[in-house]
Amino acid sequence: MNRQLNEDEIVDGIDEAMREGRIYAVLQPQINHSTGRMVGAEALMRWNDPENGLQMPGNFIPILESYDMIYEADLCLFEDVCKFIRSCLDEKIPVVPISCNVSRYDVYQHDYVEQVEKIRKKYDIPVRYLRFEITESSAMGGLELVLQVLKDLHKYGYLVEMDDFGSGYSSLNVLKDLDVDIIKLDMRFLRGGFGGRGGTIVSSIVQMTRWLNTQIIAEGVETAEQADFMESLGCYYIQGYYYSEPLLKETFLKKLKQTNHEPLSPALNLIRTIDAGKFWEPESLETLIFSNFVGAAAIFTYKDGKPEILRINKKYIKELGMNLDERAIIGTDPWEGIDDNNRAIYDATVKRAIESGEEETCETCRILCSDSCGNARIWIRTDLRVIGNAGDQYLIYAMIQNITTEKEIMIKAMGNEKLFKNAFDQINVFAWEYIFENREMHPCFRCMRELGLPPVVENYPDPVFESGLFPMDYKDMYYDMLKKLEEGEKEMEAVIPLTAGRIPFRVKYTTEFDENGKPLKAYGSAVMVTDEGGQS
Ligand code: C2E
Ligand code: CA
Ligand code: CA
Repeated sequence: MNRQLNEDEIVDGIDEAMREGRIYAVLQPQINHSTGRMVGAEALMRWNDPENGLQMPGNFIPILESYDMIYEADLCLFEDVCKFIRSCLDEKIPVVPISCNVSRYDVYQHDYVEQVEKIRKKYDIPVRYLRFEITESSAMGGLELVLQVLKDLHKYGYLVEMDDFGSGYSSLNVLKDLDVDIIKLDMRFLRGGFGGRGGTIVSSIVQMTRWLNTQIIAEGVETAEQADFMESLGCYYIQGYYYSEPLLKETFLKKLKQTNHEPLSPALNLIRTIDAGKFWEPESLETLIFSNFVGAAAIFTYKDGKPEILRINKKYIKELGMNLDERAIIGTDPWEGIDDNNRAIYDATVKRAIESGEEETCETCRILCSDSCGNARIWIRTDLRVIGNAGDQYLIYAMIQNITTEKEIMIKAMGNEKLFKNAFDQINVFAWEYIFENREMHPCFRCMRELGLPPVVENYPDPVFESGLFPMDYKDMYYDMLKKLEEGEKEMEAVIPLTAGRIPFRVKYTTEFDENGKPLKAYGSAVMVTDEGGQS
């Protein structure tokens, strides 16, 4: 009974299906997870074929798009949604805003927004009940067309959502040009769970939407854990199977009556007059966002010499060797437990960062107390950057790296801490992550700045050999090393001469495994080889 229509059947049948009302909307509620109230719904297209049963959009929409027939279908669906809202209004049933998907091919039709307006007026629907979802792919055919559609939709008062955000890095670049009101972050794009990179990406995106003054809806949320996690980041709006599948109108209507509603509140601003311009400078954007995906990071506010943590990622805690829940650290002083000397170093570095607007780095030392190991001294390198301000309150982004091992080795080698400190300032430590699954390498700020690497190096390590950064004669050895790591080796180390000058660097890798012991990625570092143990 239920058979997917083939291409010919879709193309030949769509007109009749629209005429006969077989193309219609199902509605998926959007819920505020912290109040349980409904804030909106998304309209999703369905085609009920009398002979072949229910047809899903994944099958027929791409075909309609390729035949340039999606435009009519989208308008037909929009009309169906308007009819539904009209009937609710007529029957005095409080209704929520409903968003409709805009195909990127709609954007190419110059009168799309005019047609939409015509239909809305025909049913006399207040504009606040309707929203539109565009995808970043709609910018592919040229940004101007989307910008025009966006402008027109805004002109009439519609809110516009950016659909499928998180499906690619390029999203961030698209966002800065597209002035959307709401971002839909699809949880299904975040492979790898919340603990690792996925979680950090979500966290960064949520932060970023706050700076951009956009509201955020998490979609594809299937479990309570996902919903709670999003809530913990300050993203309250949830759409997904966890609350409800897309519903037939009758069922949705029941839900509308049973559930309380509330409007989407305006985006929560951490700092109202944040200097968003700086944030979007290409260089700072790239480094900021991509580095956040990579390393241990924290965001804190700073005013009158007082820092306060707003957000940190799991790696940050791990890097500091702390055994604490993220939430326990929010609102605390990031320099707690640090002696005055080292505090002064931090403070001076923050001030430098405020003054220069550039990334500033410092190295500090702190004593960690633990039951099992007694007192241990750890060394932390911190890269600081101002990402916004409101008057004399600054928003600071910090990336940290635990460099204790390197430091201790050096201290031992030098036998004299002071001598070592001076020497260390001359030394460059480069750090990066290598992800086995997609062969991506994510370099640190310093690698980007001094080695000219992009935020993500694809097909690693091919490009670094092609560019001559790594000498060709080390190619086999290096590939072999990465292969061993991927096969489960915990640590690897080698001395490799880097760059044209053939300066020897000690390249070290440590592998991170998932719960099942499968290698996920390797953390790499390269330290210039100095006079070790007195031998030259
Ligand atoms: P989309 O806009 O990203 O819509 C969300 C899709 O995710 C829907 O699939 C929805 O049923 C599904 N979904 C919702 N919650 C969950 C969840 O918790 N887990 C999982 N795994 N999936 C969930 P659907 O209805 O099959 O639509 C697929 C796509 O087809 C849509 O993706 C959209 O790109 C397109 N589409 C649907 N309706 C229209 C339309 O009227 N016009 C246009 N141009 N495209 C449409
Ligand atoms: Ca959508
Ligand atoms: Ca989506």
